[in-house]
Amino acid sequence: ERAKLAKLRRLPAKTTDGELVELQANLEIPQELPLIAQAGAQGIGLLRTEFLFMNREDLPDEEAQVAAYSQIVEALAGDPVTIRVLDWGGEKDMEALAEGIVPAHAGPNPALGLRGLRMLLKRPELLEVQFAAILRVAARAPQGAVRVLLPMVTIPDEVKQAREIYDRVARRLRRRGEKLPESLPMLGAMIETPGAALAADAIALEADFFAIGTNDLAMYTLAVDRAEADVAHLYDPLHPAVLRLMQFATEAALRIRIPVSVCGEMAGNAKLVPLLLGLGIRCLSMNASALPRVKQAVRALDITDCARFARRVMEQSDPARIRELVSEFGAEKA
Ligand code: PEP
Ligand code: MG
Repeated sequence: ERAKLAKLRRLPAKTTDGELVELQANLEIPQELPLIAQAGAQGIGLLRTEFLFMNREDLPDEEAQVAAYSQIVEALAGDPVTIRVLDWGGEKDMEALAEGIVPAHAGPNPALGLRGLRMLLKRPELLEVQFAAILRVAARAPQGAVRVLLPMVTIPDEVKQAREIYDRVARRLRRRGEKLPESLPMLGAMIETPGAALAADAIALEADFFAIGTNDLAMYTLAVDRAEADVAHLYDPLHPAVLRLMQFATEAALRIRIPVSVCGEMAGNAKLVPLLLGLGIRCLSMNASALPRVKQAVRALDITDCARFARRVMEQSDPARIRELVSEFGAEKA
């Protein structure tokens, strides 16, 4: 088994009809870095930077952030690393950012409150430090090796505002005499709210790439908090509403030719690979442990089959029927 996995690591994630699929890893803590190399990931599609802000009483300064990001970017040796700026709020409560650092007490419904980019635009000094650190790390990495990702976007203007801050930080660094990358790293948007998904064509005009976050997209679309046991049975990323939003966002990205990936839990489910490829997705970012099985699935698939399968799935209205189709397709392939 171990030898088989080692062999798989060196094989390309290529479908039987020759389509290459990019398989990347999500990283939550730097300690997971060795797993990423073992899994044979082609870069990090989602670096969650929350770890830097947890379990401490002050904020990590620019130098501390440069050290943390460069350790990761260097370990990836030129493979792309998508650094998502702080996604604080909602269920991601962090002691360090309590009173005085971010506006205290998130209100009656934290998931609908000051979360992710909303919080950062309210406290731009947090975003400025993080952008500065990322730009400095990108300057020392190969061109294109670093990308920046904005969490919890709902309107195009949020991306525009973030980009204004990004450009301003770059100008300030240049004045300070810091080395900057030749062209600034791409600045992308998470598509993880129904609003962002349905306005994806408008957001695509402001963002350099999309990362579809299916965990939050399903939660916000279905109005179901997974932590609420009483409604957890309604949490279903295969609900047609979630799939239609993913399809709309993917097509918007493909039309305007910006990269699009899926980085929620769905991306690590080997059974769902045919559906995601059939919808036009060619980049998946997942927990490193899921990567070998997903690669195996990719290598057994034909894109034309996947596209036909996705069309059938998208005609369905019942999540249970969709689940059935997914397992039937899997059984045929096995
Ligand atoms: C998501 O919401 O799907 C996602 C990838 O982001 P996170 O799980 O960090 O909220
Ligand atoms: Mg999310």
